[in-house]
Amino acid sequence: MSDQKVQSEKKLPIIAINRDWCKACGICVAFCPKQVLSTREDGQPEVTQRDECIECMLCEYRCPDFAITVRSDDDESE
Ligand code: SF4
Ligand code: SF4
Repeated sequence: MSDQKVQSEKKLPIIAINRDWCKACGICVAFCPKQVLSTREDGQPEVTQRDECIECMLCEYRCPDFAITVRSDDDESE
């Protein structure tokens, strides 16, 4: 990353994926309106554009296995 600018005011959400519960259905990736999530080779999601997340919670609500959660991180101050 050559861009040194950091959006320090913006608090990024924590997107947690429970790898044991995830069945790699791809629903969360499909429903994310901001393409925050990508599909790994094994079919499970990974967070590739966390700074794009708008905390709409669609991924969490749509996941049939409760394997992905999104929450605000008020402590982060990188
Ligand atoms: S909360 Fe919304 S924007 Fe963020 S990863 Fe989930 S679906 Fe995408
Ligand atoms: S919707 Fe849930 S089970 Fe399906 S790929 Fe996403 S995290 Fe895994």
